[in-house]
Amino acid sequence: MDQTLNTEAVFAIAQESGKCCRICLEDEEDMQSGNPFITPCKCTGSMKYIHLKCLREWTDSKKQFQSEKGITSYYWENLNCELCKNGLDLVVRSASEPDKAIFLLDLERPVDSPYMVLESDIDCASKAVHIVNFGVKQVFQVGRRVNNDISISDISVSRAQASFLLQKGKVHLLDLDSKFGTFIKISGPLKIPRDGTVSPVQIEKKCFFFKREPRFSQCNRFFNRVCGRGSKA
Ligand SMILES: [Zn+2]
Ligand SMILES: [Zn+2]
Repeated sequence: MDQTLNTEAVFAIAQESGKCCRICLEDEEDMQSGNPFITPCKCTGSMKYIHLKCLREWTDSKKQFQSEKGITSYYWENLNCELCKNGLDLVVRSASEPDKAIFLLDLERPVDSPYMVLESDIDCASKAVHIVNFGVKQVFQVGRRVNNDISISDISVSRAQASFLLQKGKVHLLDLDSKFGTFIKISGPLKIPRDGTVSPVQIEKKCFFFKREPRFSQCNRFFNRVCGRGSKA
């Protein structure tokens, strides 16, 4: 990730052995000690490989953090690859074992209490990760005002936006009558319940409401009736 890295040396070593870390120029990975080659950005060819530990050292050297009342917040002004300028994937995969997902940032987490990791998801170079420790308290408030537990200085966030609550082992998200509402990012197929509606789905600036109509259950009733009449005759 260093602009001064010797790209020719990386290329030469990669030509010989197939893979080469573009920071330390070593061509071996150590799976035993958790130091595989990863490909965290959109760089291609011989420049795409980097050791997990080498990249963690780089991200560590750039981070700022503060810890207060159960929240530890980490900030990076710029967490983009300095070569291809793309954002680094925070969930990376070992180049040899692609099934294994690894969280890139090696951040200290609570050992004996429930916690949640919140990650900023806006398309810009700066990045924020908050570790919320429910062992300290059960409710945390998020908003634009600085007296919130997590303060987000973005105009689309209300002064008091939402709160997180840990109850019976589950984290609940409660909107605090915010101006634009609070949404949960959909990470897989969205299931629409058989009898009812789902919460509105926002796609870009539009909100969509889905409802399932009982069309097929009426068809079933119709066919049952026809069959019933047939058997009597
Ligand atoms: Zn390395
Ligand atoms: Zn890159």
